[in-house]
Amino acid sequence: MPSPLTVLDSLGRPMRDLRVSVTDRCNFRCGYCMPREAFGPDHAFLPREEILTFEEIERVVRATVDLGIRKVRLTGGEPLVRRNLEALVAMLATVDGVEDLTLTTNASLLAGKAQALADAGLHRVTVSLDALDDATFMRMNDARVPVQRVLDGIAAAEAVGLGPVKLNAVIRRGINEHAVVDLAEHFRGTGTTVRFIEYMDVGHSNGWRMDDVVPAEEIVAAIDARWPLEAVDRDYRGEVARRYRYRDGAGEIGVISSVSQPFCGDCTRARLSADGRVFTCLFATAGHDVRTLVRSGADDAALADALRAIWTGRADRYSELRSLETVELPKVEMSFIGG
Ligand code: SF4
Repeated sequence: MPSPLTVLDSLGRPMRDLRVSVTDRCNFRCGYCMPREAFGPDHAFLPREEILTFEEIERVVRATVDLGIRKVRLTGGEPLVRRNLEALVAMLATVDGVEDLTLTTNASLLAGKAQALADAGLHRVTVSLDALDDATFMRMNDARVPVQRVLDGIAAAEAVGLGPVKLNAVIRRGINEHAVVDLAEHFRGTGTTVRFIEYMDVGHSNGWRMDDVVPAEEIVAAIDARWPLEAVDRDYRGEVARRYRYRDGAGEIGVISSVSQPFCGDCTRARLSADGRVFTCLFATAGHDVRTLVRSGADDAALADALRAIWTGRADRYSELRSLETVELPKVEMSFIGG
């Protein structure tokens, strides 16, 4: 077990979680992340030569483990649209020090991939599902994919040991508030924890308005009114979701409240984009290029030094500083850094 140097940023936060975006492409067009108006047929996605190879991703992950990373999450866009992803999973599963190797997916391709991912060494998956009725689901993701395809993906993941599956649901006022109780009811007692995410001003294309945000408090109150809840303490520093358990023992829900109850003080997340830039915040306007270093023949020590300098210089706390001015900043698109 490598001894991490426990690198801290300028606010004393360690680097614990690395989100690795393996592609900027997706087969959905969720309005809060990749609206079709901005990501239409003419959108220029990253050309292949600019995308990190699996070997390059593995090198960066190894270097970050020596700096404290313990959890690696594969994201996109939609990570399962990248071919042969299980090969990358198998490489990362051998990295000493990675205690948690996970994947976030819209699950539309999961049923056909779950076994191969599990065999390759993936630990578990998180699935995005914003509603249970097809009409609302398709309104949220602007793709002609039925909910059943996602439920089949969840079942396949559970069947091969990639559970308990966690679910993420972004709630937008005026579109899917009703899904809060629907999803809670459907997954109560199943072991699947639904985390309800406040709609965020990520990127610069989703037309975010504060009026469209359903605050976490309102979400919890809606569920508590049907099935009484009690708060649960966090398991570790940097745990994103605020957790609540059903008093009747039917499991848990979570809320991710970046807008109404920011949690930047405990944020231990770094993000690696598919083109090899490190972003130190979901709402960053720029990233730090490490691909050039990786491709220049620099050794591991030089790579580690560069990553250490990026993290120790970090001072991000966007959600605590959010204002009408910051909302307009040219922030990196969430689909580019994997949420
Ligand atoms: S806004 Fe940035 S610093 Fe704050 S919790 Fe989110 S990613 Fe971390």
